[in-house]
Amino acid sequence: MNVLLLGSGGREHALAWKLAASPMLTKLYAAPGNPGIAEQAELVTLDISNHAAVAAFCRDMKIDLVVVGPEAPLVAGIGDDLRAAGIRVFGPSKAAARLEGSKGFTKDLCARFSIPTAAYGRFDNLADARAHVEKVGAPIVIKADGLAAGKGVTVAMTLPEALDALSACFDGSFGSAGAEVVVEEFMTGEEASFFCLCDGTTALPFGTAQDHKRVGDGDVGPNTGGMGAYSPAPVMTPDIIERTMREIIEPTMRGMAELGSPFAGVLFAGLMITDRGPRLIEYNTRFGDPECQVLMMRLKDDLLVLLNAAADGQLSHMSVRWTDEAALAVVIAASGYPGTPEKGSVIRGIDAARSEGAEVFHAGTAVNAGALVANGGRVLNVSATGRTVGEAQKRAYAAVDRIDWPQGFCRRDIGWRAVEREER
Ligand code: ATP
Repeated sequence: MNVLLLGSGGREHALAWKLAASPMLTKLYAAPGNPGIAEQAELVTLDISNHAAVAAFCRDMKIDLVVVGPEAPLVAGIGDDLRAAGIRVFGPSKAAARLEGSKGFTKDLCARFSIPTAAYGRFDNLADARAHVEKVGAPIVIKADGLAAGKGVTVAMTLPEALDALSACFDGSFGSAGAEVVVEEFMTGEEASFFCLCDGTTALPFGTAQDHKRVGDGDVGPNTGGMGAYSPAPVMTPDIIERTMREIIEPTMRGMAELGSPFAGVLFAGLMITDRGPRLIEYNTRFGDPECQVLMMRLKDDLLVLLNAAADGQLSHMSVRWTDEAALAVVIAASGYPGTPEKGSVIRGIDAARSEGAEVFHAGTAVNAGALVANGGRVLNVSATGRTVGEAQKRAYAAVDRIDWPQGFCRRDIGWRAVEREER
């Protein structure tokens, strides 16, 4: 099969790495890709936002399957446009991607199909939103409705914070994403990520993970795209997974089908595991980054076979096998991140880091005059497996220490919660 992979992050490098291991693969193309993905794929220059150009490329190169990594093209409808051109795609339609693209849509779906989540209100003007927030009080959660690159959510512990966040949304800080605001009840518990591969009808559980969003050790400092992750998530016991499937995922699949937008692609549920069981925080309609990296490290089966079955509506015949090992990924970021990252510093030692079973997935890298350089915020994902999260952590940090890049930084405590649990 000829496959086109869209995206350029660590998530897509991990997907490319796994797709390249498939005996079914003839040729892998990636657009735009990155220097790490170039180890597995031929990089092509394509404007992903130009769906007609992507379709023309697919026809010319006889692409059998397009795998869409990030959310923006899905929300923009690339899945629909390619399918209308007769091209097979792994990824949801624009209507189904509303599960990620509109928080209000997802909350209404939860209400209609009795899916456990935080109580909420939707508002399109400041006055009503303010009145609601003043009535409910803090702590409370304020969310811009649309995609805001993870920055549109404020968990407000005080009323003034909540009111400031509301003003920011309606002042246009998040552009059209903030024209509508969702105000939510504050939930407490442990967070976990749960993934399913979906084909419109069947949702096949596809692993659990936990990530670290804050930039600093001890989960402090500003939010980032994710500084590290590990899989599996110990809090996702077989009982919690069974409840998540029955109470959250399956009603979502039925609900989306009933609304005329069956969900196919990756359904990524951000969950709060509360005293009363799993509750949905949010949906994403693609793999997490860096959660994807740890899932790919553990996946035993052929990813291409699975994605192909999902694109064909054939997942009910499939099962998924994982290694018994844990996997852990550490993100190395360029200094300045999550503010303005410093670009252009030279990175050495990737091969040395890979020498003992660890993998290094590229994200914001580039090649300049033959040297590998930093070219973004999150730059490398150093990933390793181990019999326990603790062992995977040791191996990942040993590999991190073999990388020679003084301008990069990483957290030193990825996996702390699971390691603490293992030590107890
Ligand atoms: P991201 O893209 O970073 O996953 P997002 O912008 O799509 O985030 P959410 O996942 O909905 O937003 O929220 C971000 C974080 O805020 C969550 O991971 C969680 O820690 C916290 N959060 C969101 N909703 C609630 C809630 N109702 N109660 C408590 N915490 C919440």
